[in-house]
Amino acid sequence: MPVVFFGHGSPMNALGGNRYTDAWRDFGAQVRPRAILMISAHWYAAGTRVTASARPRTNHDFVSFKGPVSSFDYPAPGDIALARRVQTLLAPTPVTLDDRWGYDHGAWNVLANAYPKADVPVVELSLDRTQAPQFHYDLAARLAPLRDEGVLIVGSGNVIHNIEIMRTPWPAEPDGWEGRFNDDLRARLERGDHAGLIAYEKLGPDAQLAIPTPDHYLPFLSVLGLQRSDERPEILIDGDRSGGLGMLSVAMR
Ligand code: ZN
Repeated sequence: MPVVFFGHGSPMNALGGNRYTDAWRDFGAQVRPRAILMISAHWYAAGTRVTASARPRTNHDFVSFKGPVSSFDYPAPGDIALARRVQTLLAPTPVTLDDRWGYDHGAWNVLANAYPKADVPVVELSLDRTQAPQFHYDLAARLAPLRDEGVLIVGSGNVIHNIEIMRTPWPAEPDGWEGRFNDDLRARLERGDHAGLIAYEKLGPDAQLAIPTPDHYLPFLSVLGLQRSDERPEILIDGDRSGGLGMLSVAMR
């Protein structure tokens, strides 16, 4: 299986109809996994946890979006055996089996496009908010055997995600930091500079604006941790829909 990072944007993307959701849909049409392991920005928890229920519920973990997405249902089954397999692969790091967390919108807004029939079982893996970026990169690398077992590992976040700027009207004279940061990130991705991307806090003021909190960036590091030395990054889609957001999606295959 390839490994993929989706820049997920707003919950409204679950409804499709734009060039980002079309790119996710095209990817899903090409790749048919037996199960999906989802690492979403929106399960940023204390500790490493995996969903372990037969029928995970659809969480509506946002307040600012109304209409169809506020009752959206993504009824994909869970996969308790896969949750246990993740626990085994990550040992001795403790992994809690969690039967309460369902699918958050970082998971279902992309999967509703990539796998609209909701017929592929999904397990979510949390991001341990007490850990440094290197931990997330290294932890994901230990999941590599799943790729040979028909499991598609998905990171869902945004490489640029600044809520404060998103909620501010577009500046009259944008200073170009988003484009500069995105170009730098893509250049590092292209030349395999994983060390530089892990140490993003040292990348200067543009990176500080792009990644004011780690949650939406860490799933990207998880995907880098799973990139094999013979794989090239394939940009599925890139662009900005509003200030403070970067919609880069990339597959390794
Ligand atoms: Zn998000």
